[in-house]
Amino acid sequence: MIDYQYIVEKIKFSNNIVITSHKGPDGDAIGSSLALFHFIKSLGKNAVICIPDEAPHYLTWIEGSNEIIYFDKERDKAANLLVKADLLFCLDYNAPERVGKDMMDSLQNSSAYKILVDHHINPVNFCDYNFSDTRSCSTAQLIFEIINGSDHLTLLNEPMCQSIYMGIVTDTGSFRFPSVEAKTHEIIAILIKNGLKHYEIHEKIFDTNTLDKIKLRGFALAQKMEIVPGYPIAIISLTRNELQEYNYQNGDTDGLVNMALSIQGINIAAFFTEREEQVKISFRSKGDYYVNLIAMENFSGGGHKYAAGGVFFGGINEAIESFKKLIPNYF
Ligand code: 5GP
Ligand code: MN
Repeated sequence: MIDYQYIVEKIKFSNNIVITSHKGPDGDAIGSSLALFHFIKSLGKNAVICIPDEAPHYLTWIEGSNEIIYFDKERDKAANLLVKADLLFCLDYNAPERVGKDMMDSLQNSSAYKILVDHHINPVNFCDYNFSDTRSCSTAQLIFEIINGSDHLTLLNEPMCQSIYMGIVTDTGSFRFPSVEAKTHEIIAILIKNGLKHYEIHEKIFDTNTLDKIKLRGFALAQKMEIVPGYPIAIISLTRNELQEYNYQNGDTDGLVNMALSIQGINIAAFFTEREEQVKISFRSKGDYYVNLIAMENFSGGGHKYAAGGVFFGGINEAIESFKKLIPNYF
């Protein structure tokens, strides 16, 4: 049983509250963080959101977004905030590594009371209080449950509703994944009754693509996708140079891997991109195929059954070859 009132008491009796989320923030990382940020404010307290690196523009338009501190941009300030914090929320991640090496040191050195709110499987025990619900569709839904469970629904305001909706809509693939429950739609109904204009959120998230982003997708699908012979597996890869050619911005390849998965007869999609000193890999699957194990056991990663990721230390071609060699063992 989660003691929602206890979480609210912790907020009320803390003075330096910091909200953190994972590297490569997605809609749920930003949505859950902003929802909690505005809830804390409505309780008459203050909080700061500190995230390892920047979120794409289509996720940073809700009120409060421009106050987010990015660890990679403002290192000293962020590290100082984490050290000074007396209450620290860890949202939408299940292990300290998920904030990246640099921010992890500051996180672990902080003596703050730490509260985990997360829905990823196999949570590591690194917080003082754990609100982990692996059946929940999103962390944003869990923030709603804190607000509701502590009897504070009357505090719901526009940015809170927008943030909760953003987290839920992005982490459920627009309400299509099996993680969506009747409760999820009941929550949305409450948000809409509180004045949420859901169509505005869809437009701001999904209909604000740049031309370069759409062209990069076209290139990736037409030129850089291969089907593994004899397997229901599609692979897409993009090198650093190719990303540069299309003026890559954070978030430009989000969802690309799902397009490969949407092909009839394809059950597994893998997407490889060159990052600073490593290759980032995204896996997606459907039906009776699961990708979390292959990510965990071979690519220092993890995730859910149908959406997982990891990294490869080496070249992109080497990464793809090592994935291909593993295919007969896993699928
Ligand atoms: P994405 O492909 O969108 O980056 O990640 C999909 C899911 O895989 C994430 O929600 C997360 O659960 C998991 N994931 C992605 N990258 C990593 C990683 O490097 N380590 C771990 N443990 N999980 C990851
Ligand atoms: Mn999430």
